[in-house]
Amino acid sequence: MDLVLRQASVPGYDGPIDIGVSGGRIAALERRLVCDAPEIDVAGRTVIGGFVDSHVHLDKACLLDRCGHVHGGLGAAIAAVAAMKRNFTEADVYQRGARVIEKAITKGTTRMRTHVEVDPRVGLRSFNAVKALKADYAWALDLSICVFPQEGLTNDPGTEDLLAEALRNGADLLGGCPYTDTDPNAQIERLFGLAREFDVDLDFHLDFDLDPSWMHLDEVCRQTTSHGWGGRVAIGHVTKLSMVSPEVLVSIGGRLAEAGVALTVLPATDLYLSARETSYAKPRGLTPAHLLLDEGVLCSVATNNVLNPFTPFGDASLLRMANLYANVAQCEPPLFARCLDLVTSLPARLMRLGDYGIAPGNPADLIVLDAATPSDALAEIAEAIMGFKHGRLSFERPAARLLPPAP
Ligand SMILES: [Zn+2]
Repeated sequence: MDLVLRQASVPGYDGPIDIGVSGGRIAALERRLVCDAPEIDVAGRTVIGGFVDSHVHLDKACLLDRCGHVHGGLGAAIAAVAAMKRNFTEADVYQRGARVIEKAITKGTTRMRTHVEVDPRVGLRSFNAVKALKADYAWALDLSICVFPQEGLTNDPGTEDLLAEALRNGADLLGGCPYTDTDPNAQIERLFGLAREFDVDLDFHLDFDLDPSWMHLDEVCRQTTSHGWGGRVAIGHVTKLSMVSPEVLVSIGGRLAEAGVALTVLPATDLYLSARETSYAKPRGLTPAHLLLDEGVLCSVATNNVLNPFTPFGDASLLRMANLYANVAQCEPPLFARCLDLVTSLPARLMRLGDYGIAPGNPADLIVLDAATPSDALAEIAEAIMGFKHGRLSFERPAARLLPPAP
């Protein structure tokens, strides 16, 4: 063994266990591991495989210093970033993305999927910057790159060629945004075509309003089935589902589960941008992921935007995001551990990370949370006090000390 974490509370195990690490992988999980490797006693704290952020926008993060602070709703946010995007340079995107990645690492994130806008205005500059970030921060975080047409595909000539070029040059998967396209169903069809051509997964920004009388969800499910892409498609936001009755939610949940379409809720942005047209008694605009889990839908909760017109908040903490979700969705304590799953094991499944989690043979990606149980960690937004990537210490945060006056 190269390292032993002693007295770790690991979800799924009764009582503290020792975690042995060898060659960057988890080698043993035992009540009392006998060996003379260097050891760290975590004193019964919760140890998990790190947070998994299934939906972030690194390329348009940290823009508040250049765009004023009053943006209105979703349309104004898209327009504000569309204007700024023309002036993005690779160095600029790299620097802002690095700021978010470094925050995320020290908050305990070990895996991340970032969306990246690709179109004739920004070309492949953001994509190239994010590719460099992926390589430069691989010592602490696995980054997956999802290129997508934020401002439309069929109405934006040149975009499809750029998406294909990105997919030929290292993009991991393809995103979509049918609601900004003049022909949403045609966009969905074209993206499935590209996904099949390049054999990549799909992740759509779906609807982002509170009118459940129409939705693109049916078309995505239909095409997922007809293209045989079940288990490889995710949809994000889907805020319309916050406005349907329990019976309709069960029915739609059944359709998503049957088609193999996963769903990501982005609480910070959904809460910030929803219901801007009303001035009081505002609906929350947050789709109840924990209820869809009961219907067999693979769900996750993720960060989305950090410090930009879509969400002028953000510390890249997924534990804070899961806590925000649980609070707004009125989840009671028996659901807290499930809410933690929404930012750990469930997004790992959504991203099809077969080697995630604390099990022998998996990479020793581990974080230590300053809490005795996952439920406590969720309720208290426990600090991540140290993290390991492939068995190597990647960050640490000494616990706060109280300094009372001398008697
Ligand atoms: Zn997004």
